[in-house]
Amino acid sequence: MPEQSYETLDFDITERLAEIVGVNSVKVNEPMSAHTTFKIGGPVEWFVEPQSIDQIQSIMRFCNGYSIPVHVMGLGSDVLVCDEGMLGVVVQTAAHFKQIYVEGTVVHALAGASNEDVAAAAQRAGLTGYEFASGIPGTVGGAAIMNAGAYDGEFAQVAISVLCLAPYGSIVEISAEQAKWSYRHSMMADEGYIVLGVRLQLAPGDPDEIQARMDDLAKRRAEKQPLELPSAGSTFKRPEGYYAGALIQDAGMQGHSHGGAQVSTKHAGFVVNTGGATAQDVCWVISDVMDAVKKNSGVNLEPEVKFWC
Ligand SMILES: Cc1cc2nc3c(=O)[nH]c(=O)nc-3n(C[C@H](O)[C@H](O)[C@H](O)COP(=O)(O)OP(=O)(O)OC[C@H]3O[C@@H](n4cnc5c(N)ncnc54)[C@H](O)[C@@H]3O)c2cc1C
Repeated sequence: MPEQSYETLDFDITERLAEIVGVNSVKVNEPMSAHTTFKIGGPVEWFVEPQSIDQIQSIMRFCNGYSIPVHVMGLGSDVLVCDEGMLGVVVQTAAHFKQIYVEGTVVHALAGASNEDVAAAAQRAGLTGYEFASGIPGTVGGAAIMNAGAYDGEFAQVAISVLCLAPYGSIVEISAEQAKWSYRHSMMADEGYIVLGVRLQLAPGDPDEIQARMDDLAKRRAEKQPLELPSAGSTFKRPEGYYAGALIQDAGMQGHSHGGAQVSTKHAGFVVNTGGATAQDVCWVISDVMDAVKKNSGVNLEPEVKFWC
């Protein structure tokens, strides 16, 4: 591995990335606020949108070979990017890497397919089991890496396996057993695997009933959650035996704000961007909430959202 910093390399990194993904799929100094559901975040040096497994593998080999920092993202619905922006490369799967294919009762999807699209494809094919995820505004790659869940469903319940790029560079199929999914956690997240695709085992069902269940869940979400404002969903993990929202309300922090960031007045588990919030504003609110909850109930809240700098 070269000793020098990638900033002093004698070739053009933009050109090298364009050779891998095509010139239209590399953006320079791209504002991350355009790619996160929080609508927050400074520019990343290079933002690339691969279309194939080969391209993802080549990007990772290139970045790792020259010690260029690299982050993989789906739809940016669980990340808070700092205001100063990020060094290195963000690899976004959600733009082009999103084919879905149904084979009998098994759904195959590339990592950048959205949960919404996968749930809709399953519904059209008369397959039940993924309705719980239809309103989770991320990709299946994001769902696999953190075992996304809602309304008594979670990714682990339907996953047969996930195809991954291992940190040592090989492409491997990870079984459900190897994935070691637990609450908002997987082995792949711990070990730095990149999810390339997922295989889901669903069950035959009535398309109208499946649609009705998704509609009902969407209605319940819209009633309870501040979907009208930018956020990254539940800001904190659910502490064992408690609900984060209730703890925050009990601590008197609902509505607490800093700049444009506020603990939602509709659902205290969400920090929302009421307009012009900076990542620093969100961090102040998160920190104030954690202190207040600890003081009031003795519970340590842990942020669910991932911080990228
Ligand atoms: C309004 C709202 C409601 C939400 N409701 C829920 C909910 O009910 N349940 C729930 O679980 N979550 C919920 N979320 C949070 C979020 O949607 C999920 O965490 C989702 O799984 C994130 O997927 P993503 O593609 O957006 O990932 P990103 O936000 O892009 O990335 C999140 C993390 O996953 C990693 N990652 C993403 N793709 C890959 C990949 N292919 N390989 C390796 N790592 C990857 C990233 O590096 C990062 O660490 C909600 C968010 C919002 C904004």
